[in-house]
This record gives sequence, C-alpha cells and structure tokens, in this order.
Amino acid sequence: MKGDTSTFHEAMYYREEKGRLRCDLCPHRCIVEEGRYGICGVRKNINGKMYSTVYGRVSSIAMDPIEKKPLFHFHPGSWIFSISTVGCNLKCKHCQNWEISQATLEGMNIPYYTPEEIVSMARSEGSGGIAFTYNEPTIWYEYTLDVGKISKGYGMYNVYVTNGYINEDPLREISRYIDAMNIDVKGFTDEFYRKITGGRLQPVLDTVSIAKELGIHVELTYLIIPTLNDDENEIRNFSRWARETLGENGIVHFSRFHPDYLLINLPETPVKTMHRAYEIAREEGLNYVYLGNLWEERYETTYCPKCGAPLIKRSGYHVRIENITPDGRCSRCGTKIPLVM
Ligand code: SF4
Repeated sequence: MKGDTSTFHEAMYYREEKGRLRCDLCPHRCIVEEGRYGICGVRKNINGKMYSTVYGRVSSIAMDPIEKKPLFHFHPGSWIFSISTVGCNLKCKHCQNWEISQATLEGMNIPYYTPEEIVSMARSEGSGGIAFTYNEPTIWYEYTLDVGKISKGYGMYNVYVTNGYINEDPLREISRYIDAMNIDVKGFTDEFYRKITGGRLQPVLDTVSIAKELGIHVELTYLIIPTLNDDENEIRNFSRWARETLGENGIVHFSRFHPDYLLINLPETPVKTMHRAYEIAREEGLNYVYLGNLWEERYETTYCPKCGAPLIKRSGYHVRIENITPDGRCSRCGTKIPLVM
C-alpha cells in the first residue's frame, strides 16, 4: 500500500479557481496548487483535480465502549466499531492522537478497505454502528459518506467524533447518514483557536447549531487546559452558550488535560478546576454535565434532573443502567430523559 495511488478517490466540494483548486469542505477553504496538499495533508491537487488520498486507508480499527467517544446518552453501555485514517484539518498543540492526526499517507503503510468490507467487519463484530474517530472524520469525508450509506442500509447508526470544522453544505449532506456527533469545543475564544488549534471558533459553534437543527444527537467536549482555556469566565461563557444553543438538556463533557505533544510543559488540570467547571455549567442551567479523565463515579453518573435519582452509573467504562424505563423515563418520577437507546 505504501506509495500506492490507485486508491485515491476524487474529492467532493472543490472547484477550479484561477488555475488552482479551492477546497470547500472545511472553513479553511484552502487554495491548493498543482501537486500540493491542503492544510489537512490528505487532499491533493493532481493534474487539476482534487483527490482524497486517504479514501479507504484505515489506520486504526477497534471495538470501543461508546462512552469512550464520549457519548453518554447514545446507546449507553454499548460497544461500537471504531475506525480512523490519518491527517487533520486542525493543528492542536495538545493533540493526544498526534501520531495519526499529524501524519500523512506518505511513508506510511496503511491498509485499504472498501466501504463494504468495513461495514461487514462491523456487523461481524456485532456492532450496532460505526464510529469515525481518533482523527478528524471530515478530512476523509467521501469515505465516511460511502460507509455511512451502506451501514444505514443495514439499519446501523453512524457516529462522528469531530472537531466540528466542516462547512455547512457538506455537513447537511452527510447528516442523512450521521446519527450522533461528539463535537469538541476546544476553548471559547477565537484567540485560543487561532493560537492553539490553527482554526477559528465561530465555524465550530455554527456546526453545533446546524447539527442540532438537523436532528443529530449532539454531545460536546471541552478539554480544560491550565492557563489556556481554564478561566472561569470562559467556562461560564461556553456553558451559557451551550445552554442557549442546545437547551437545558444539552450534554457537556469537561475533560481533564494531560500533557501531550507540544504542550508537555503544562501540568494536568487540577481536580478543583474540573469540579468548578462542573458547578459553573450546572449553575448555567445544563442538566447533563460530566467530567472526563477524572474517574470519579459521581461526575460520570447521569442523574434525573427532576428528582435527582441516579439513572446511569459509570465507573470508567463499566456502565450500570438503573431507574430507566424502556421508553427512556426516570422510573422514580417519570421525567423524560434525552437518551437514544
Ligand atoms: S478539508 Fe483539507 S484541503 Fe479542504 S479546506 Fe479543509 S484543510 Fe483545506
């Protein structure tokens, strides 16, 4: 597979512009010269056509607890067939999957699987769905679309674990095949986005709004990085926006930072900062707030917002569903819980 170009697949969402190509897949809207790649490192101008060089190139395959994505209100307690390729359209200095997200196909030996093969493998593993995860799914959009179409034909669901850096038209098109998204909101200032991720904040917020409008099950993740995006006002502004955008049943995961990649000079997020973020989000009216990478059951448990009954207890990836009726209500007080079972 190394150096093999036969699996390249013509890209969607690009146009010719003054002898070069403009990619309209994500908000970077790269101008790509002949023989060059876009910022994501995987979409290439070859003889005046844009190609996805990673179509079908699957760098990782695993069955994961769906809570690992994290998705806490979408088929809780289940496992999901998870795949990735290489590359990313953001350049986060703290990326925990940088070995694949910042890699390109060149020099790597990554096997090719047809969409049919991936769906067949997922089914034989007994998975109800397929998650595009570990690296940014948008950058192998065409493949996720093709896999999604086939898996839907078998009544399966599809999940994007994404940075939300995608333009509106491709998002609307793929929404027919995507059932759930965990979207990273990596900070709540444009300055943070520009300095730490190489992107901008507003397009991510727009993706969250559009995904919600399209009826996709959305959960948000905010990784709290000491000194960079841990200011209480920033966390409050994010929580208020999440409440206004997703409603009181919006689902927010605050995740604890561990030093990685280019940010190894920073410490882990203090536990008290994590607890404070939880309080702030609850004060702002969000019913479902979780703390990740902390491993404290209290902060991973789903509670009934009305009577306080524990509904889904989580201890790491051990999940116990209690006090939920088959139609997704609190069995103590009857409150409807936002759950896809
Ligand atoms: S998907 Fe890649 S090539 Fe297209 S605009 Fe985004 S970074 Fe640029």
